[in-house]
Amino acid sequence: MTRPEDATPTKHPPRKAPQRVQKVDVGGADKLVMRKGREERVANGYPWVFSGEVYQVPPPEMDGQIMPVEDARGRLLGLGMINTKSNIVLRVLTRQREPVDRDFFKRRLTEAIAYRERYAKLDPSPNAGYRLIHAEADGLPALIVDRYGSFLVVQALALGIAERMPMIVELLAELTGCKGIYERSDVLVRNLEGLPQATGVLYGEAPPADLVIEEHGSKFRVDVATGQKTGFFLDQRLNRQRVRELARGRVLNTFCYTGGFSIAAALGGAEEVVSVDISADAIALAEENARLNGVEAKCTWQAANAFDALREYEKAGEKFDVVILDPPAFTKNKDSVPGAVRGYKEINLRALRLLNPGGLLVTSSCSHHISPAL
Ligand code: SAH
Repeated sequence: MTRPEDATPTKHPPRKAPQRVQKVDVGGADKLVMRKGREERVANGYPWVFSGEVYQVPPPEMDGQIMPVEDARGRLLGLGMINTKSNIVLRVLTRQREPVDRDFFKRRLTEAIAYRERYAKLDPSPNAGYRLIHAEADGLPALIVDRYGSFLVVQALALGIAERMPMIVELLAELTGCKGIYERSDVLVRNLEGLPQATGVLYGEAPPADLVIEEHGSKFRVDVATGQKTGFFLDQRLNRQRVRELARGRVLNTFCYTGGFSIAAALGGAEEVVSVDISADAIALAEENARLNGVEAKCTWQAANAFDALREYEKAGEKFDVVILDPPAFTKNKDSVPGAVRGYKEINLRALRLLNPGGLLVTSSCSHHISPAL
């Protein structure tokens, strides 16, 4: 089961003086062996093995299957799902030699759900919205599950997990008692896994078009089928709560989407909230959300480019007590970091200039390559 081009481990430069020749088992079809010196990160808990880090990539017939990965000395690093079409040839599921079967996934899902319910400061409402399963962080690589009241929305971002979705959907239905599970795997990273885009109902009923979730006492309509991501930016849930506690005076919320931070501010101490987003659909839903929370009189909405809006507010001499910036990722790779840094600098600088003395800047970045310090 070897591929001709990968059949020998002699592609790497031969050692000049091979005094102590260590015998390296490059692995047959039954395991992946990491190149000597490349194993440290995975041994320390990193969940991905890249194809360039192993002596031999398994044959494509193994795609989706579970294989052990070892270091060059034969020490087990873990068991994971294979995809030879991806640069990430293996995603670690467990660090032990154990059966990776339905029971395994059931245990992982049960643990993650219990953990979330215990620690995530959730709204007690049965209509709460929050991220239930956090992929690698919950030991379930590439699996995202968001809970919107009695409905779940799933994203399967790797082949191994996509192939196991029928089982995972069954388990999720059993463990949560949800009314329906909807898939939003319409994301470009699926291309890197050799997977097509996929959306639609996987179990039970489709989420209704007027689905409303509750978050710390505020209500939001969520469009699961056509909204951005899985319908709502659940990652900012606790920050919206913080803004609700801190908001006062006049608030500017840029990149507002369906009004999450705006409504939090209006329900908190804000007297007036001005919000901007480039998406007219998002603004329409934001206006509806303001009415749903009874704060429409405090809110004004603008469908515009936030870069232009910030410049215009500055030119007009407008001042705010709180400015919120929550832009989309300005860079997804290392090469475009300098351009992204210019973008972040521009909006943050303009936001600071718009603040009254003693004002508050709430700034976010979801670009992996932009560190908090940068
Ligand atoms: N803070 C929001 C989520 C923001 S997501 C919440 O809590 O729900 C980022 C938003 O930026 C998206 O709604 C997207 O439509 C918007 N966006 C992207 N580029 C923009 C631009 N140049 N100007 C204004 N909005 C933009």
